[in-house]
Amino acid sequence: MAKKTIATNFNVDSKDETGAFVSLNYDCPYCHYDNYELILIGASNLDKIANDFETDQVCKICGKDVIIECR
Ligand SMILES: [Zn+2]
Repeated sequence: MAKKTIATNFNVDSKDETGAFVSLNYDCPYCHYDNYELILIGASNLDKIANDFETDQVCKICGKDVIIECR
């Protein structure tokens, strides 16, 4: 099971009818490395980022799956 963590910071960088770019930081719950991710949200998921959302990522340092809560 992937561990969950809460984004330490996230920001919607750009958004239009085709999708959105969201940048976020999170501390890996396994190795505690401060990861930075830029994720693309497709148009069909744009409504999700209007509220709290979760994204699945892989830590760049330890390679483990992490679920990041953005809220
Ligand atoms: Zn890690």
